[in-house]
Parts: sequence; structure tokens; C-alpha cells
Amino acid sequence: MQGKKSSIRTFGDPALRRPAEVVEAIDDEVREICRVMVEAMLRAGGAGIAAPQIGIAKRIIALDVDGQFHVLINPALVSSEGETEETTEGCLSVPGVSAPVTRSTRATVAGTTLDGERIEITGEGLLARAIQHEMDHLDGQLFLDHLSPARRRSLLQQYKRRKPDEEG
Ligand code: ZN
Repeated sequence: MQGKKSSIRTFGDPALRRPAEVVEAIDDEVREICRVMVEAMLRAGGAGIAAPQIGIAKRIIALDVDGQFHVLINPALVSSEGETEETTEGCLSVPGVSAPVTRSTRATVAGTTLDGERIEITGEGLLARAIQHEMDHLDGQLFLDHLSPARRRSLLQQYKRRKPDEEG
């Protein structure tokens, strides 16, 4: 398998812009990808991670919010409602910066666990935000794509200024 690294890909890496592919079978390779993802997420203290963030173009996300821990294979957004911009959002792939992003207040995602079980997770607040954020990664989208051009520019300037001291 190419690009199996525990290091998280950062902004500018083409892996973050590549749409992820459906996982055909939950095999040892997929289990290993999940292990590496979860390890990277826990080490970085993130609320979630998506496979493209470790350079793997597969539809897999992990969430770790408010004591709720999930790994989902081939997740699909089932529903979302409401709208909030209250919470500042960041990303392990754009370390050190954050910005308010408008998201649905409530989101339901369906997917398959590593045991092959179909589950549905409904989240509110931070979990809803994490679900939407990680789903975006599977389509090559980053949170800053949701910002206005001016906000995005200022966020990227801030990011570039702090990048030298941030070995990722
Ligand atoms: Zn992210």
C-alpha cells in the first residue's frame, strides 16, 4: 500500500483534494488504515479524522467527540438540519488556525463499523460539526472552503506565518 504513514497530510498536499473511493471490503488493509487513522487522531488530539488526511483516498472517517468514539466505513450523510456559526472550527491538516464555519446544528450519518455492522449516528453541536467536517474531507473539501474569500485569505496568511515553527 502506497503512502501508509502515520503523519497527517497538511494543507497543499494533493491527497487532501482527491475524492475518496468507496471501500469494497473490510479486510486487513482497511483495518490497518483505521488503526493508523485513530492513532494519528489521538496523538494530535483531534475530534475526528478522515482517511485522505493520512494520504489514503478511501471513504473512512473516525470521530472522537464528547466520549463518543466511532470508526465509519463508507459513511453517508442521512440528514442534517438547522444552521449555526457559533463554534470555531479547525483541522488537523491546517494546524494552528481556526475560524467560524456555518454548519448544520444536527447531523445524522450512516456507515459500517469495522465489525461490518451498519450503524447510524446522530450528533448535535460538536459531534454534528465533526461529522460534516470529516464528510467534507472524503470529497476533497477543507473547512476553509466554506469561508468567504476575505476570511479564507486572512486565515491562510495566518497559517503561512506560523508554518515554519510547525513541523507537521
Ligand atoms: Zn479536517
